[in-house]
Amino acid sequence: MTGEAVDAVVVGAGVVGLAVARALALAGREVAVVERETAIGTVTSARNSEVIHAGLYYPSGSLKARLAVRGREQLYAYCAERGVAHRRCGKLIVATDAGQLDALRALQAQAHANGVADVRWLERDELLAMEPALHAVAALHSPSTGIVDSHALMLALQGDAERCGAVLAFASPVLGGRVVAGGIELDVGGDAPMTLRARAVVNAAGLDAPALAARLAGLDAQHVPHAHFCKGSYFALTGKAPFSRLVYPLHDAAGLGVHLTLDLAGQARFGPDTEWLPDGAPIDYRVDPARRNAFYAAIRRYWPALPDGALQPAYSGVRPKIAGPGEPAADFVIAGPADHGVPGLVNLFGIESPGLTACLAIGDEVVARLGAA
Ligand SMILES: Cc1cc2nc3c(=O)[nH]c(=O)nc-3n(C[C@H](O)[C@H](O)[C@H](O)COP(=O)(O)OP(=O)(O)OC[C@H]3O[C@@H](n4cnc5c(N)ncnc54)[C@H](O)[C@@H]3O)c2cc1C
Repeated sequence: MTGEAVDAVVVGAGVVGLAVARALALAGREVAVVERETAIGTVTSARNSEVIHAGLYYPSGSLKARLAVRGREQLYAYCAERGVAHRRCGKLIVATDAGQLDALRALQAQAHANGVADVRWLERDELLAMEPALHAVAALHSPSTGIVDSHALMLALQGDAERCGAVLAFASPVLGGRVVAGGIELDVGGDAPMTLRARAVVNAAGLDAPALAARLAGLDAQHVPHAHFCKGSYFALTGKAPFSRLVYPLHDAAGLGVHLTLDLAGQARFGPDTEWLPDGAPIDYRVDPARRNAFYAAIRRYWPALPDGALQPAYSGVRPKIAGPGEPAADFVIAGPADHGVPGLVNLFGIESPGLTACLAIGDEVVARLGAA
């Protein structure tokens, strides 16, 4: 990228930034993606469960519910069309004792309210016929949940965006910027620092989106949420996966519980747990082996046969939350000019799960919020 004036800049080349860049480029816009790291998708988009969520959990009418349901079908269609590896393997959400049955019924009602009509109640016998190793008194079966190769997905999105003329610049951290007449100026650091002027800017900086927005002079601070980081660690299972579907316990406010996910090679891993990080502390992605004991306890509630010594520390990711511990979960924030008054600016805040599932729908939503800006 040599020029200093661009029509639209997307900050961040995670799965969401890439999906936004693709959507803007397909809509005929000239797009530059500026990424701090030296490759696409090295942060949260490389550190998640790679699950295509059906959209069961989220409050009716929320962006998370709408964009997960819409984005999931867009994603299945896109993966099929572009040859991105994926599998509609289905998932079970289990009640491990009778005290959880009401919560499981409430989740089924929420799923139906969200338009996820294929979620079915399974009694114990039916469940054991499907997954004999599972300990549960009942479960919900979500056949439209699946898994995807997230890196292959990002490569496909990048390819589409580039074919439509988008340009990606790596090792190009956006340091800050300002609202100016007719657009937004961004100060880009790295080896070849420059100032980019754009008519439209989409802040898809993930964990750093609130911090970046706070460095945009001309955007009122009341439109920038406080960032809360919540780490989730994973442990890999040595040996054969005990189940052929994903298995989830009932969720809590911060996460979906220590669940079993499968990768496309059939290898099982468990996680993510929840660990709130202190404000401003540097992120350490190493998995603390001491968390293993809590994993054994959580997993044995639904898989009592988990052998001792079978769990190995794997990897972790950090949820870009905008609600803190004890607060109700926040919705995605896709804040456009109508929300904050800055023409041409869209901030994406709190794009935690199901952000991977919803990426294509988020791309469309951003194009709509920008309109002709
Ligand atoms: C533990 C965990 C499990 C999850 N599991 C699932 C799941 O199974 N299914 C699902 O749908 N979703 C899941 N998610 C959510 C999903 O991973 C995210 O919603 C998605 O990856 C967010 O993508 P992104 O592009 O917004 O962010 P990121 O992938 O973090 O990308 C942001 C990019 O911006 C760049 N950047 C930051 N600051 C700057 C700057 N100043 N200048 C230039 N570049 C910058 C970063 O380097 C990064 O590349 C999970 C998340 C976590 C944490």
